[in-house]
Amino acid sequence: MIMNACIFSVGTELLMGSIVNTNTKYLSERLNELGINVLYHVSVGDNPKRLKEELDYYLSKVDLIITTGGLGPTQDDLTKEVISEYFGMELVTNESILEEIVEIFKSMNRNMTENNKKQALVPKGGKALRNRMGTAPGIFIEKNGKNVILLPGPPHEMKNLFEDHVFDILKSKDDKIISSMYIKVFGVGESKVEDMLKDLIDKQTCPTIATYAKMGEVEVRITAGGKNERENNILLEAMKDEIVSRLGKSIYSFTGESIQEAVGRMLIEKNISVSFAESCTGGLLSALITDVSGISKVFDRGVVTYSNESKMSELGVKKDTLDRYGAVSEETAIEMAKGLYDTTGSDICISVTGIAGPDGGSEQKPVGLVYIGVCYLGNCYAEKFNFRGNRSRIRNSSALNGFNLIRKTIDK
Ligand code: ATP
Ligand code: MG
Repeated sequence: MIMNACIFSVGTELLMGSIVNTNTKYLSERLNELGINVLYHVSVGDNPKRLKEELDYYLSKVDLIITTGGLGPTQDDLTKEVISEYFGMELVTNESILEEIVEIFKSMNRNMTENNKKQALVPKGGKALRNRMGTAPGIFIEKNGKNVILLPGPPHEMKNLFEDHVFDILKSKDDKIISSMYIKVFGVGESKVEDMLKDLIDKQTCPTIATYAKMGEVEVRITAGGKNERENNILLEAMKDEIVSRLGKSIYSFTGESIQEAVGRMLIEKNISVSFAESCTGGLLSALITDVSGISKVFDRGVVTYSNESKMSELGVKKDTLDRYGAVSEETAIEMAKGLYDTTGSDICISVTGIAGPDGGSEQKPVGLVYIGVCYLGNCYAEKFNFRGNRSRIRNSSALNGFNLIRKTIDK
């Protein structure tokens, strides 16, 4: 059973500040989900001596070290060499991995150089973990009760190796089975959510509860570790019911999906067609919803009407409305949504108009003021928001709240 872990990030780039260490964040989250305590994060440059020293030090403190980076073909990629030497394991060519690497180069029509063969070397007694996304395999070493897992640096390769192999390796080492459920909440801040769940969080044992603030939303993760999946599910369902009774309609999903995915799915399931008229979001709602596969069934169009002229000519917003109330107003938002509804015939139309800043704000209409218009089956209204943050945050918040309004409207 693995209790304690340390994550090693290998690469001088990290120490120079050239790249952000997203691998460590990802691995920490995943290990915690598995009930493994991550006790240390270590970043070390491409330097054999220091890597060995750190390895020696932290192996005396934890059961598991996961490294990322330094598995490539070049001279400075030395993680595998250093760790093999540390454990006194000879590096031998793994023929099936070598074959695969040869195939990859053939299919890319590229010449393979001698140093690419280095990637097929695996420490004797270690296990090669096949990498679907690149040439460097991961490696799993189990020795003297310690576990060391080597993963490549590029985040998409590292994640795929984790999902394909590491997750199962770690689960198989545990006599407990870990199950998690993700409850996604929109429109309520993290501290409010925590407050509403305070007594549950305070007395948590199994399941455990953790809240995470994300852009505009909060994720509540409940995790149970029991003898089997069935036992876990009973615990999770009971906790879920308790949380639902407190957070109610602000919950939009139990599967960990994003708000646009949840809304896209709802629209497809209910066969409700949708169009967007966007000003300050400049097409962001359209871009986000088209990330959802199968959305072509219900998504008709998105129009970006940035100028007053286009709001009038494309959406039929009245000049008088713009003159009297301005482009950023409840009245304009409603006319935008109504105009789109009349021309498209979509079941639900959403409009967004606001001041994303940093310029253009005034006392009456500050930066962050956004109106989102909704027209659903002929009923039109607009909601006013005051978002905070920079231009990109304000635009993102506008788009995500647009999706939340769709959810609230069609979920009635
Ligand atoms: P390659 O075969 O691409 O050389 P590698 O396993 O040798 O892979 P590195 O050379 O250490 O890995 O890093 C390759 C790239 O992966 C880096 O340039 C960086 O973009 C990314 N990367 C490495 N480590 C991290 C990390 N901890 N967090 C996020 N990205 C990382
Ligand atoms: Mg490299």
